[in-house]
Amino acid sequence: MKTDVEIAQEAEMRPIQEIAEKLGISDDELELYGKYKAKVALSAWERVKEQPNGKLILVTAINPTPAGEGKTTTSVGLADAFHRQGRKVAVALREPSLGPCFGLKGGAAGGGYAQVVPMEDINLHFTGDFHAITTAHNLLAAVIDNHIQQGNALDIDVRRITWKRVLDLNDRALRHVVIGLGGKAHGTPRETGFDITVASEMMAILCLAKDLEDMKQRLGEIVIGYSREGRAIRAKELNVTGALTLLFKDAIKPNLVQTLEGTPAFIHGGPFANIAHGCNSVMATKFALKFADYVVTEAGFGADLGAEKFLDIKCRFAGLKPDAVVIVATVRALKMHGGLDKKELGKVDMAALEKGIANLTKHIENIQKFGLPAVVAINAFPTDTKEELDFVEKKCNELGAEVALSEVWAKGGEGGLELADKVIAATEKPNDFHFIYDVNESIPEKIEKITKEIYGGDGVDFTPAAKKQLKEIEELGFDKMPVCMAKTQYSLSDDATKIGRPTGFRITVKELRVSAGAGFIVALTGNILTMPGLPKHPAAENMDIDVNGKITGLF
Ligand code: ADP
Ligand code: MG
Repeated sequence: MKTDVEIAQEAEMRPIQEIAEKLGISDDELELYGKYKAKVALSAWERVKEQPNGKLILVTAINPTPAGEGKTTTSVGLADAFHRQGRKVAVALREPSLGPCFGLKGGAAGGGYAQVVPMEDINLHFTGDFHAITTAHNLLAAVIDNHIQQGNALDIDVRRITWKRVLDLNDRALRHVVIGLGGKAHGTPRETGFDITVASEMMAILCLAKDLEDMKQRLGEIVIGYSREGRAIRAKELNVTGALTLLFKDAIKPNLVQTLEGTPAFIHGGPFANIAHGCNSVMATKFALKFADYVVTEAGFGADLGAEKFLDIKCRFAGLKPDAVVIVATVRALKMHGGLDKKELGKVDMAALEKGIANLTKHIENIQKFGLPAVVAINAFPTDTKEELDFVEKKCNELGAEVALSEVWAKGGEGGLELADKVIAATEKPNDFHFIYDVNESIPEKIEKITKEIYGGDGVDFTPAAKKQLKEIEELGFDKMPVCMAKTQYSLSDDATKIGRPTGFRITVKELRVSAGAGFIVALTGNILTMPGLPKHPAAENMDIDVNGKITGLF
């Protein structure tokens, strides 16, 4: 069997101008990064911004298991199926981070015959957006330390600086560092740390900003820490908002590439799905909706985290209204949710499937709570049997969700035609999209609604430390923003071991963080690492490049 990178390297890519032409984007509106990548100029937006939007289709999934789900693969394959049907379509995805690429996951540009290309470039430096974020983030950090060195006119409490430094790699040794050692000329010693670039608030800002002006405004609102009196200090008080914004002058423009089948693909921005909202930029989604009749986009992790935040945060800020939601599941993963061991997933076990399917049915109910039609995509594996597939279909139909088998991984767009038809039918149904909570409710009320409605829990508790933060956030007036839940992706609860559809549990909020620039409050329910580590054998060990520039091992 060919690897993803082998399949990608065999692809005959078309020049990016040809791909852009399919969406009516002219050569003048493209800024080329080589032959197969381009940024779309902001002038293109000015030309189309008054046009009606196409239909928006969100791809999400059941809670992830080690058996794998395939959201990106399904998103790409579904878009390819629409493309085959002669529809004007674009897929909008996140940019992969270098950290997980060299760590555990390898590339993140789809898989099999449903991939975006040039896969190597997309997975590596691409068009430099992440480097721009890294630089801007660290410029602000450098300015903070310099401000203290030069007399600290703002009276920044060096023990309460929340703005850390970032790097787009997995490097656990940088989680906690002491800087400013070496004496008076070398800064004020203090403890800080590094996060991975995708966890930077600036990544969330890039992904939520409407335009450069909005970007500037949000960058200025970032809370970098507190004064010794407890006043929240904003980035704009350091007088570098202009400099920060100019570092984003190109990064803010959506990137255009293609799928293996020549379908236009916007790949732009990639915030963490735990600490941030986890979906590609608002700009890319909005561009795609103006240029295409159908836009397929993915949200990170399972529907309890990724879709909830896509709908309650991204759609709220961007004024977006999805037309249908695809929930990806695999028979294997459903059996795992039913308690079957990973080694036994090839076996037919109807009891495990019946038990595990409760995870999927909860996500279907949740999507319906948002007022949206759900279509289940069963991402096909060779071990699936007819009996199992029929059972899944019956269960979903009972809840009013359509189901289709998706064979896009093995067959490309051809394998997604049935799914495409069912999704089109769903987008034509009336839809009553609404949010799960109102931003003007208190933070505990908002989290309680998410817990009860979406997770299926009984309620929420705050640790004493979180209660203290809550009081401070309320006093500072930051509480009327959406809540960005940081929770394990493996369970509907905040306990990763509770698979399937747990009931009778409560959620514990351990920490609340203010992301005033991004415009949300992060509620942490566990130990969420914002700087991952590498495994014993990092994926990097299998990667290579030969004298001709041919890359291997990038999955
Ligand atoms: P997600 O977006 O949900 O994280 P991806 O689409 O990136 O998932 O897929 C994860 C991995 O699983 C990829 O390496 C992909 O090639 C593989 N994969 C996805 N679907 C299938 C399938 N039907 N059969 C075999 N491998 C698959
Ligand atoms: Mg993905």
